[in-house]
Amino acid sequence: MTLIFDNPAEFEQEALDGFVAANRGYVARVDGGVVRSTDVAAGQVAVVVGGGSGHYPAFAGLVGPGLAAGAVCGNIFTSPSAGQAYRVAKAANAGGGVLFSYGNYAGDVIHFGEAQQRLNAEGIETRTVLVTDDIASAPLDQLDKRRGIAGDLTVFKIAGAAAEAGLHLDAVERLAVRANYRTRSLGVAFDGCTLPGAAEPLFHVPAGKMALGLGIHGEPGISEQPLPTASELAELLVSRLLADKPDDAGNRVVAILNGLGRVKYEELFVLFGKIEKLLTAAGLTVVEPECGELVTSLDMSGLSLTLLWLDEELEHYWAAPADTPGFRKGSMAPRARRVMAAPEEAVAAEMEGTTAAAAGLGRLAAAVLAQARDAVVEHVEELGRLDAIAGDGDHGIGMRRGAVAAATAARDAAAAGASVQRVLSAAGEAWSERAGGTSGALWGSAVAAAGRTLGTKDSYRSEDAAAAVAAFVDAVTTLGKAGPGDKTMVDALLPFRDAFRAALGDGAPVTGALASAVTAARQAADATASLRPLKGRARPLAEKSLGHPDPGAVSFALIATRVSDYLDFSQPLSDSRMAASVAGNGARA
Ligand code: ADP
Ligand code: MG
Repeated sequence: MTLIFDNPAEFEQEALDGFVAANRGYVARVDGGVVRSTDVAAGQVAVVVGGGSGHYPAFAGLVGPGLAAGAVCGNIFTSPSAGQAYRVAKAANAGGGVLFSYGNYAGDVIHFGEAQQRLNAEGIETRTVLVTDDIASAPLDQLDKRRGIAGDLTVFKIAGAAAEAGLHLDAVERLAVRANYRTRSLGVAFDGCTLPGAAEPLFHVPAGKMALGLGIHGEPGISEQPLPTASELAELLVSRLLADKPDDAGNRVVAILNGLGRVKYEELFVLFGKIEKLLTAAGLTVVEPECGELVTSLDMSGLSLTLLWLDEELEHYWAAPADTPGFRKGSMAPRARRVMAAPEEAVAAEMEGTTAAAAGLGRLAAAVLAQARDAVVEHVEELGRLDAIAGDGDHGIGMRRGAVAAATAARDAAAAGASVQRVLSAAGEAWSERAGGTSGALWGSAVAAAGRTLGTKDSYRSEDAAAAVAAFVDAVTTLGKAGPGDKTMVDALLPFRDAFRAALGDGAPVTGALASAVTAARQAADATASLRPLKGRARPLAEKSLGHPDPGAVSFALIATRVSDYLDFSQPLSDSRMAASVAGNGARA
């Protein structure tokens, strides 16, 4: 149980604020997580880690010299948003680019992936290394499907040490990939963990039993068995990991025995002594091991064993010093405090150069987003019903949260004189941050991508519109990796893009081309009724979904219709008409 909190909904934020208050010599709070508060050499690669909260010392406790440059901190067991990852990475960047590293979970992959696209588009070179150490989560021939657990530490540590040594981004990435490839973990649990404010644990393990292969968020294990003795448990963990060792394994290994939250250190030591003997008996040399809490799962009663098979280079970086609130090794010279620029200054500087014409187009972009918002607000129930057939029923409320937040952010940016690019980037960020769900991340990314393609100009041509539509679609397919026929919004997006391009090619004006594209999108959205979903949450209930259109395809067609009707210049797009759109009927919804 978690007993200490005021409001459970604010638990993770208050915990993070308190953590920073207790560790100001190491970390500074930024919007979305923490970054180092100490000096970083210019040009050093920033290793940015993260994921949901509830795993202390992962992730915020691993920020400091020799390890992570920043940690993105989501809610408990929940992926952070793309905006959070983007802002933390931007604050952590010291000019050498960013390496994102985190456990392989779908939500994290989408949100960090979007942040990566944005950072790269802004010229901050960013790469990603996913941690996939949990041998219980997929077989050996599907390494890339495995999820990340306590092996986070070996990958982060090697990458962080390489960055500290001044290696460039390619080399840091290569070492992190190798560390991950040579890391294996397996966890067991004796009892479940309880979210702050919840009366019941997320799961139970029957008394006298042990669950094998559990995830760190209460994902079910692969089997249950009678509670073993310490010797039997050591034998089980060691034999399973050795059976899964990498091809090019040598005989020097790092061993990490990790407590998940409720196991006493003395118990871990009992087990570690036996594990070390077994590894030695198997001909391995144990190098600089760790035994303690490193990647926890709230108050879960359980533990995991991680092995990293070293080579010379990995051993060098594993042994290098690190100094963070939750993990220390060797000794490091004290560092001076880092001076950080306030983010507002950067925005103000960017806004200064915008002309009156560009700001006028920014107001038009805000008016268009307000139309998108109103279309969603009017159909929120219908979209929810469609998503409830084979999904989780949240598409209406998720789209409303996202579209309302995006329209509000766009309004504020436009009122401050922002260009199309800035209006759409603020809107996209707000959308993915507030919407939650897959569609929110995809819409947020797509809106921001269209904005980047449009840039800041005083006028646009039809080629610009076609490029923006293409960028919108590319963002969705790159992040979501769905193709035609998977029964997602992509099935409406592709015909929309193609019809738009074709009509422009035939010499149609932008508004005419938009109208044809909308017709194509509506027909395609209806036609998804005959498809079985192959991506997203609806996949397991594919049969139920037959005969009903995909909610994401339908919402796209609704929004496109509304925007096209608005832009059909039957009435002039005066400032007062745009202001009326922004005020809209959905703002109060
Ligand atoms: P969630 O699935 O997280 O509950 P929503 O209910 O808001 O999110 O959105 C569901 C819609 O998202 C689906 O109808 C589909 O159109 C779209 N979607 C889901 N996964 C993908 C994907 N990988 N690529 C493109 N669109 C997707
Ligand atoms: Mg849903």
